[in-house]
Amino acid sequence: MATDSEEDDDWTKYADAGYASSYDPWADMVPADEIEDDEFEDDFDEFEDNDLSVREIPRCPAPGGIEHAIRIGTCNHCLGRIAGVRIAGDPLDIVGDRVRSQALERDPELTVNEGVDCCPFCEDLFSDLDIISNRIIASVEGVEFSKAQLGIHFSKAHVAAEEVLRATLAATGSRPLKASLSEVVQSTISEKLSTIQWVKERPEVMILFDTLTLGVNADVRALFLYGRYRKLARGVPQTRWPCRACRGRDGGCESCEGTGQQYPNSIQSLVCEPMVEFVNANSDAFHGMGREDIDVRCLGEGRPFVAELKSPRLRSIDFEKLTKTINKSAKDLIEIQGLRFSNRAEVARIKETKAEKSYTIRFSCEHSLSDDEISKRILSLSGQVLEQQTPQRVAHRRADKIRKRKVISIENVQIEDNEIEFDVRCESGTYVKELVHSDEGRTNPSVAAVLETDCEVILLDVKDIHAD
Ligand SMILES: [Zn+2]
Ligand SMILES: [Zn+2]
Repeated sequence: MATDSEEDDDWTKYADAGYASSYDPWADMVPADEIEDDEFEDDFDEFEDNDLSVREIPRCPAPGGIEHAIRIGTCNHCLGRIAGVRIAGDPLDIVGDRVRSQALERDPELTVNEGVDCCPFCEDLFSDLDIISNRIIASVEGVEFSKAQLGIHFSKAHVAAEEVLRATLAATGSRPLKASLSEVVQSTISEKLSTIQWVKERPEVMILFDTLTLGVNADVRALFLYGRYRKLARGVPQTRWPCRACRGRDGGCESCEGTGQQYPNSIQSLVCEPMVEFVNANSDAFHGMGREDIDVRCLGEGRPFVAELKSPRLRSIDFEKLTKTINKSAKDLIEIQGLRFSNRAEVARIKETKAEKSYTIRFSCEHSLSDDEISKRILSLSGQVLEQQTPQRVAHRRADKIRKRKVISIENVQIEDNEIEFDVRCESGTYVKELVHSDEGRTNPSVAAVLETDCEVILLDVKDIHAD
């Protein structure tokens, strides 16, 4: 088998080196009954001396195994890890040092083989603990955090070689290199940085250490803040919208006055820019529970959103102060409330929530009906299920299909000659403007149909989002 021969090759390298003069190759002979017969015979014929030597070295904690480990240059940390004599709580290098001293007492001649330049298990990573921990600490300087997760990347070749060596020489149950190194690096850093808290999930900083280059990459995880926004003015898009003419490239153009944006403000910019400044983040993303059209206001308790602030240097927030800052600079455009910490999972939640919404809609039409008749006809739509074919205005970006949406209730119909206004509560995803003007009959039934006249929407407000 391929794996066997690889193991043998690898082993031979160390086993050859183990043939020092004072070493009795037969002293720790593995009893023959532990070797499978057929394998033994085949190997014996083919490889003779070299392969035999492999079998002469017992695994730790047998003294022969420990002596061999010392000869091939095993460092104290790895010796402590593989010798099989660890007492819980003792640091690895202290254990290793003790194991080495005991081996030297047994055999004062015991030395590291000539030509050994590093620990065959860890390639001297454990002796670089100071460098490693200092680099990691430097990588998060100036970042406010407590929860950190450490990831260590090894080359595949190193992991494979170490596993083979450990499987052959280490005591049963010895801890893998990665787990041991990770543990020691973490405790070394904890000694220098007492505020750090090592976690296995949801870290604030993800630290990746590469054993090959000794490079460190600290990924400061995004900060998520939940809140609700009320949109008080029309003409403000929810998210940033690159200028149609220049697409936001190269510092904008004449038509966008160098802003690169189609509109001077967006809810995203009004909410997130003060936040980015507040926590010294790199950038932001805005996740709303749905969105209203640019010309639609959003009132009531407001629309839930989660702001995602990427690579923040600060994480502790005075929400009251931040809310005031945002509301002051966005005065008359938007207003936020209910700010609190959130997380990525909540982004998914608010994106998936199908909240019913209440609207106030105002439209004009030519008619010759009495006010009572108008009221009666409009109220007749309450409780009806609409069939809405994808509106022409969004057909370029949405699949053409018919959806069914329920009008939960209609109330408060007000008529001023040919301007009519009413409140309507409907299912999530209802096209409300189409409910009124019918989109040339693509929405059925509709206000236009029951009034038997053309209707033109004048204004639409989200009155409330029934999110909770
Ligand atoms: Zn080592
Ligand atoms: Zn432009």
